[in-house]
Amino acid sequence: MNLILMGLPGAGKGTQAEKIVEKYHIPHISTGDMFRLAIKEGTELGKQAKSYMDKGELVPDEVTIGIVRERLNKPDCEKGFLLDGFPRTIAQAEALENLLGEMKDSLDYVLHINAPKDQLVERLTGRRICPTCGATYHVAFNPPQQEGICDHDGAKLIQREDDQPETVRNRLEVNMEQMQPLVDFYTDKGYLVEVDGNQHIDVVFQDIDKKLGGLNK
Ligand SMILES: [Zn+2]
Repeated sequence: MNLILMGLPGAGKGTQAEKIVEKYHIPHISTGDMFRLAIKEGTELGKQAKSYMDKGELVPDEVTIGIVRERLNKPDCEKGFLLDGFPRTIAQAEALENLLGEMKDSLDYVLHINAPKDQLVERLTGRRICPTCGATYHVAFNPPQQEGICDHDGAKLIQREDDQPETVRNRLEVNMEQMQPLVDFYTDKGYLVEVDGNQHIDVVFQDIDKKLGGLNK
């Protein structure tokens, strides 16, 4: 089963990816992991990617798609894959279509985990960090025993600049603008599956499972 997972920060992509991988026995392939692996293995494309990253530049699409090609041809992808963080642009989405065509393969579904923006803001701004030991908490979902205090060392918890409401809202806006063309692209192609992310984690997965179930034979 060949899947792409999309969703805004805070929509619960990571958690659902874990559950999908466990049930469907396909590898979770995030862009970051893919680059790290290519660099670690010292492939030609990995070296090229690293040279751009070392300079703080964006890796060009032809290098990225080459790395995707290498990754999807590995034996663990025999039963399929769950792509996360790729494609990011229409050009990359088209390149992926071509690549899968070369491989005599195609996508099955593009899962889009959707949640109201206010909900995402609440999730993302609730994070608190211990400046001493680095432990992370969430005011609603994973609170410390004593409000505002680290369980491990009693330090006063802080909210990172990145997690302030204004910053979070801006980040979500930028992400939405980048993602919308892809959502439209995959809707037109008939691959898009909308998943309501504004439910309990287990219910979200039940919905995904139900939608994928027809293919898991
Ligand atoms: Zn601490």
